[in-house]
Amino acid sequence: MTPPDWLAAARQVTVLTGAGISTESGIPDFRGPQGVWTRDPEAEKLSTLQYYVGDPDIRRRAWQERLRHPAWTAEPNAGHAALVDLERQGRLRALVTQNIDGLHQKAGSSPAVVIEVHGTVHEVTCLSCGDRTPMRTALDRVEAGERDPACLLCGGILKSATISFGQMLDPDVIDAAARAAADCDVFVAVGTSLTVHPAAGLTDVAAAHGARIVVVNAQPTPYDELADLVVREPIGTVLPELLAR
Ligand code: NAD
Repeated sequence: MTPPDWLAAARQVTVLTGAGISTESGIPDFRGPQGVWTRDPEAEKLSTLQYYVGDPDIRRRAWQERLRHPAWTAEPNAGHAALVDLERQGRLRALVTQNIDGLHQKAGSSPAVVIEVHGTVHEVTCLSCGDRTPMRTALDRVEAGERDPACLLCGGILKSATISFGQMLDPDVIDAAARAAADCDVFVAVGTSLTVHPAAGLTDVAAAHGARIVVVNAQPTPYDELADLVVREPIGTVLPELLAR
């Protein structure tokens, strides 16, 4: 697919990615046809703070799921690589991601441009004292027999350093994302259903500041009408073409 002239000419592109960019790497999304929640609506509880804090069974199940998380072995795909290339072209203002899998960094995007609005699964955080440690250390404890490992500093509940439903986003991180949305000349939303706020609302911020909007997503989104270009093709095929210079 040939990019329109205004996209090829864009000098400051802010990209918002969602779970759909990682499905071709073998990490299921939540709401796509094969999504984790589409197949098992109960799974949503594992990502809801209230259930996680209140129910030890949910935490034990969450730790077992983390042991098997596909992010540990997944490799980035052509969609991630297209964004590394966009950065090398000097046209990437920021890469805001809702993903927690770390695949943008693994593909080669510099940590300085990646804004992880929903955190990362590669670390754990204590819900009481805020101590952050590598996920691997906690998983080693689970593999050694602890079913719900507690914080080694204060005994608090440990959780992956991701934002669950009911949990506040880091205000500095969402501010940085909003600035990147306000500053760009084109805003590209890739592989996201654009239903989770405030991340989805970054599209409104970009549009309100005069950016052109591109949506690359297999299924319709609530922002398709606002968009200047909507592409419903597989990301790994179409993103490298759209972002080529
Ligand atoms: P979502 O599951 O709500 O939507 C993903 C969208 O991507 C769907 O509309 C689907 O049609 C589309 N899609 C999937 N594969 C595609 C492909 N190959 N080509 C084109 N489109 C494709 O995802 P979301 O909007 O990111 O919201 C889910 C939340 O869950 C996020 O907040 C994120 O933090 C989290 N999550 C992250 C991961 C990850 O890190 N990889 C995986 C699942 C969920």
